[in-house]
Amino acid sequence: MPTAGPRVLLRKMRDIMGERITAQARLDKIVSLIAANMVAEVCSIYLTRAGGWLELFATEGLNKSAVHTTRLKMGEGIVGDVALHGRALNLADAPTHPSFSYKPETGEDPYQSMLGVPITRGGRTLGVVAVQNRTHRLYDEEEVEALHTIAMLLAEMVVSGSLGELGEIDAGPRRDRPWRGQGVSFCEGIAVGRAVLHEPRVKIEKLIADDVNHERQRLDRAVAELREAIDAMLAAEDSVITGETRDVLETYRMFADDRGWLLKLREAVFTGLTAEAAVERVQNDMRARMARQTDSPLLDRLHDLDDLANRLLRHLAGRGVTSAQESLPSDAILFARSMGPAELLDYDRSKLKGLVLEEGSPTSHVAIVARALDIPLVGRVSSVIEQVEPGDWVIADGDTADIHIRPTHEVREAYRHKLALRAQRQATFAAQRLQPAVTTDGQRIRLMMNAGLKSDLPHLAETGAEGIGLFRTELQFMISSDMPRLGDLVGLYGAVLDAAGDDRVVFRTLDLGGDKVLPYVKTPTEENPAMGWRAIRVTLDRPALLRYQIRALLKAANGRDLDLMFPMVAEVDEFRQARVLVDREMDRLVRVGGIPPRKIRVGTMLEVPALAFQLPSLLAHTDFISVGSNDLAQFLFASDRGNPRLGNRYDVLSPPMLNCLKLIADQARGRGIPVTVCGEMAGRPVEAMALIGLGFRSLSMAPASVGPVKQMVLALDSSRVEALMDELLRGTAHSLREQLKQFAINERVPV
Ligand code: PEP
Ligand code: MG
Repeated sequence: MPTAGPRVLLRKMRDIMGERITAQARLDKIVSLIAANMVAEVCSIYLTRAGGWLELFATEGLNKSAVHTTRLKMGEGIVGDVALHGRALNLADAPTHPSFSYKPETGEDPYQSMLGVPITRGGRTLGVVAVQNRTHRLYDEEEVEALHTIAMLLAEMVVSGSLGELGEIDAGPRRDRPWRGQGVSFCEGIAVGRAVLHEPRVKIEKLIADDVNHERQRLDRAVAELREAIDAMLAAEDSVITGETRDVLETYRMFADDRGWLLKLREAVFTGLTAEAAVERVQNDMRARMARQTDSPLLDRLHDLDDLANRLLRHLAGRGVTSAQESLPSDAILFARSMGPAELLDYDRSKLKGLVLEEGSPTSHVAIVARALDIPLVGRVSSVIEQVEPGDWVIADGDTADIHIRPTHEVREAYRHKLALRAQRQATFAAQRLQPAVTTDGQRIRLMMNAGLKSDLPHLAETGAEGIGLFRTELQFMISSDMPRLGDLVGLYGAVLDAAGDDRVVFRTLDLGGDKVLPYVKTPTEENPAMGWRAIRVTLDRPALLRYQIRALLKAANGRDLDLMFPMVAEVDEFRQARVLVDREMDRLVRVGGIPPRKIRVGTMLEVPALAFQLPSLLAHTDFISVGSNDLAQFLFASDRGNPRLGNRYDVLSPPMLNCLKLIADQARGRGIPVTVCGEMAGRPVEAMALIGLGFRSLSMAPASVGPVKQMVLALDSSRVEALMDELLRGTAHSLREQLKQFAINERVPV
């Protein structure tokens, strides 16, 4: 039973949609048209009402008196089943289907076969359109496709409000209602502002094509452009893209070449849709499949395909891939599924007030950059992108990890209050700014801050941090489009030393690789980039880069003290080789008549577990150690720090990690070698308290953490936490967090 041609059907649909008739008359005409076109005895449209009901809105073939009377619960009957699961059912013998439910008032007894298709938009079910026949038959692929296309047009009618006179159609959470989500806090602080999508959505203005050929050409051109864009990103060795992003792009390219996907798009255009509507039509199918998937690699692939469809829509609309190049509101809160640090740095920081991610992890570099920029960041807020519209008012609470989209007046008021309290707390921190961090039993704790950009420098004075314990030099390289010139580096490093005055600054040499990539440095594709050719490994293989940087540092010191350290050192020999390069640059400086630093201290990050097992010899060579707990935990637990699925799997506050840290603290203290912890755990009060209990007396953290950590230190008796740690470290608990928090409560230590 073939359809009379999808194009004819769409043309007639367009005519009906343009007629000046009532909404009910329009729906009545549509069901008659579909029934006639698909040679079906019945065509019915059910739409959702408040409370999860599906109401019969129009029918051809069933009793007209059942219209606006027959109602089904979500999940009830075949129609309810289609709505609930958001997928089509094609049944030759509907009455034997387990979900079949008989509604006598509709008079549907004689019908055997049924095809029901959900009417969906943005992952929400708005209703169902169904056709029925007397005979036993399965509807063919062309008929199923046609009904899907009609369902899309009906969805458009519902969301555009053109059925408004028939009462409110309720599809569960609506985008004009407040929405609240909960994620995980990656950077504290509260942001109030307007939503911006990192990858903007394209609004489809026109669904039905005027000229099918023209639309086919537009689609082909956009697909070609999309392929070119992906190829350009992947191109050659000098790509900015590495690691996971590269994998994603490779997947994109695979899909972009996937004949099945392209065929589906072409078929949708052939039915008479515009190119944009065709992309959305195929995307709807994918979203329906996504909604049915739970936790599987297939879901990732579908997400990728969904992203690719969004990219294709942007090509059709001639828009850029991200919002970084577009004009932002002055109080932008950025929403993304996931993001790399370089992408975040692409944005105008003066306008960026907050960041919300569906994925991410607290020690991923995008989180570290957000912390460096002091941008509140809430990660792992599930399906938030689906809920938010660009321009929506948003409150992103990085303290409690709550996201409020379109908040009510009451929530806004509550936040006004909260912001005032926060300001008071900040004022307390500011008042304690110049007070030394000394525990109640007289232990002096040195609190420094992490930095990486010139814009971080004012935080030194604002927070009272005693210098910079970790200056991530790669950030400056990442925000430049070309290799920074020597003079610029000297200027930056000099300004950092000026800002710190007599306080210490520890410059870490370039830590590239993994998710930190430079547009102008060749980076090969790697299977495990976090464990690949990165950091010291790159700079030892390409010593010119390291020497260039050391030269800038020596020059910037200009007779002052200089502290520098190397990232990702795995063995003492690597440290010695890097140190030789420093000595060579020192010799060169003296040779050319430059002023050497008054004192130079060369240290190392300790973030690869292997180095912890070479401490006796390392301590004989290094001037100081800085523990990078982010990577140390990643490699100790063999658990990717950027993988959201592993984010909660292991706790740094657990015997294996803390025993490893204690080994480092004890041995460094035994040899009189200064040791600092500069990973993210140093900036969280409970963790910082545990570190003090292990014997660490120097911590370096994001600027916003200095106040809260100092407050904790001022109330802490270090001998008591040391005794507690000795006891806890002997256990085998998965996490010691609760015991440490309870200790803090008992001791009245604010954490
Ligand atoms: C660390 O690994 O803990 C660290 C401080 O370095 P980064 O986070 O920059 O890798
Ligand atoms: Mg590291």
